[in-house]
Amino acid sequence: MSTHTEDSTTESTVAATACEEYAVPAETDAFVCDHCGAPFATEEYRALHWGLEHGESLGDEQRAAFEDAAADETETLKLFRLKALGLLVLLYFGLLMTYAVVT
Ligand SMILES: [Zn+2]
Repeated sequence: MSTHTEDSTTESTVAATACEEYAVPAETDAFVCDHCGAPFATEEYRALHWGLEHGESLGDEQRAAFEDAAADETETLKLFRLKALGLLVLLYFGLLMTYAVVT
């Protein structure tokens, strides 16, 4: 009986510590992790956190959300890399042509 009370006290302490650690303003809506209580600004960030931090204890729905979010993230990262490479190539040849014309 007393151990059950201690467990629930420990859980609420952990949740309170997590909330204090992240300092979320009370008026904002946060997507809170079911496992550790960490708040996230978007559903996608929470889904990515689920997969990265709680991969062993996910349900089917959470796993599917993580896989969708990871696929979107990978696509976004590929696009960013392509844009960054394009910008570097443009900068390189721009400076090269400027150097060739000026000197
Ligand atoms: Zn978590």
